[in-house]
Amino acid sequence: MISIGREFASKDISVTGRDLHEFAAGLYPICRSITGDGIRETLRQIKERIPLDIVEVPTGTKVFDWTVPKEWNIRDAYIADPNGNRIVDFQHSNLHVVNYSAPLCATLPLNELKEHLHTIPEHPDWIPYRTSYYKENWGFCLSHRQMQSLAEGDYKVCIESSLIDGHLSYGECYLAGRSDHEVLISVHACHPSLANDNLSGLTVATALAEFLVGRDLRYSYRFLFLPGTIGAITWLARNREKTERVRHGLVLTCIGDGGGFHYKKSRRGNAEIDRAAAHVMRHCGEPSETLDFSPYGYDERQYCSPGFNLPVGCLMRSVWGTFSEYHTSADNLDFIRPEQLARSTQLCASILDVLEGNRSYVNQNPCCEPQLGKRNLYRSTGGESIDIEINARLWVLNFSDGEHDLLDIAERSGLPFMVIQDAAQLLLESGLLAEALTTR
Ligand SMILES: [Zn+2]
Repeated sequence: MISIGREFASKDISVTGRDLHEFAAGLYPICRSITGDGIRETLRQIKERIPLDIVEVPTGTKVFDWTVPKEWNIRDAYIADPNGNRIVDFQHSNLHVVNYSAPLCATLPLNELKEHLHTIPEHPDWIPYRTSYYKENWGFCLSHRQMQSLAEGDYKVCIESSLIDGHLSYGECYLAGRSDHEVLISVHACHPSLANDNLSGLTVATALAEFLVGRDLRYSYRFLFLPGTIGAITWLARNREKTERVRHGLVLTCIGDGGGFHYKKSRRGNAEIDRAAAHVMRHCGEPSETLDFSPYGYDERQYCSPGFNLPVGCLMRSVWGTFSEYHTSADNLDFIRPEQLARSTQLCASILDVLEGNRSYVNQNPCCEPQLGKRNLYRSTGGESIDIEINARLWVLNFSDGEHDLLDIAERSGLPFMVIQDAAQLLLESGLLAEALTTR
């Protein structure tokens, strides 16, 4: 029986974690945005690990109520003080420039310059991350401490960017399974040097896809690496017919920090993915919490918009927007941890195990308990204690009425899904269970 989660758990977590963190570190310096060469280079590096189609959608393409914007690229940007010293330098941190800043070269007095400067007074040493995608503007981000130190005088500002007709790029990795029913895994890939918000999701999704390549899978898997919001909207607009195949989905974001797990339910609230994620988190040995759906967040907003209402939830560690490092230079490679990245990947693999293995069965001997002893079913198969294994077999037999799937039984019994699934497999082999006809 396939057990992606168990196989993943058998790997050395420190080796897996180091690999994930190194991959994130390689992507970290790239100046990504919702379009342009930064996201293209990111997709190229992902493509070195997994089969990936890179799709280019022209500027001006209508996607539902939105339009694919002009493509943005940047070579250099700086502020020079009255003595000509580069005091804010894009080459030191790509967060220094408001993402999507229009090109500019000008000399301004300090008071005018300050209208275009962004800082975080509560964290005076951090650089904020700011964007201006849909309103043409320009600006710089710097530490509050540095801004306070600026003397009066004329400052030269230079932004060597381009904002011209081009393309929006996204990456799509499709792994065909036995069914054309799909599991959708979606991550945003549009933030520059930010680690938890952006790179953690990218690395975990890439590792999952890498792990699934070449396997015999029940479902087909579609991994999307997209610019946030506009990328998901673009994909949905171009792939409306494919959305009917999506049976389960996850948006992954902010999944590498030291916090416990948070799963935000799909708009449906009781989709199988919602139950599977909650179940796996309950048994994962780390703190976890399930959150109700809200129409604000990452790309689950688009997948769960009423015209689609797909069964897509969002898995995080710390919830976006709630940790002080969010959208600042402090969301760096030290903020994400190798072990947490590896454990997040393992948790995702365990959720996929539930989706792959969840089925309904029918007890073939429903009138009173079958006699387990004479069928040699009063024995341990070695994974758990004999009591737990027998208990699981009794739960499976009792609730296998075609109405309850294995995940229902795992939830009602309080036992981990894999223990219930092992019991069902043994009972199936012994002839005491048959697969319910409704299961696909
Ligand atoms: Zn963000």
